[in-house]
Amino acid sequence: MVEINLSAEVRKLAEERGIPLEQVREVVQHGEETKEKLLLDDQTLAKKRIGTTTVYVVYRRAGEAIDVVTVYSHRMEEREVSDFVPDDVQPWRCGRCNKNVVRASMNVSYLGITRQAPAMACPDCGVGFFEEHIVNKTLCTAMCLFEKKRA
Ligand SMILES: [Zn+2]
Repeated sequence: MVEINLSAEVRKLAEERGIPLEQVREVVQHGEETKEKLLLDDQTLAKKRIGTTTVYVVYRRAGEAIDVVTVYSHRMEEREVSDFVPDDVQPWRCGRCNKNVVRASMNVSYLGITRQAPAMACPDCGVGFFEEHIVNKTLCTAMCLFEKKRA
């Protein structure tokens, strides 16, 4: 099994965000096996839906081991990607197509309500990823609003 290293700082972040180490491992394995991941220099961004949570992990290879750079997650359902902006090229490349991803929008659903949020997506295979600040600001705010509305 691959050794997965989390610095004290990242371990604390994972704890605060309620992401157990087994889930971090699952996401890394998923990214490596399916190539559903983005690449930027020596960094990889992978994601996997585990239960009702989509967990994102940024990591880099350190010899045989994996160093985790950051982890984040959200509980909205990721749906279709649209509104590709071909000129808005992002630094990350698709792990499958090796193409640079571009700015796009991804629909997310939560408690029966669907909203669009800015994402990065591959113009070839259409896979979409959210960046950490989008998840922690936009998605979190939207989710809190949804929960308030429902209450
Ligand atoms: Zn692709």
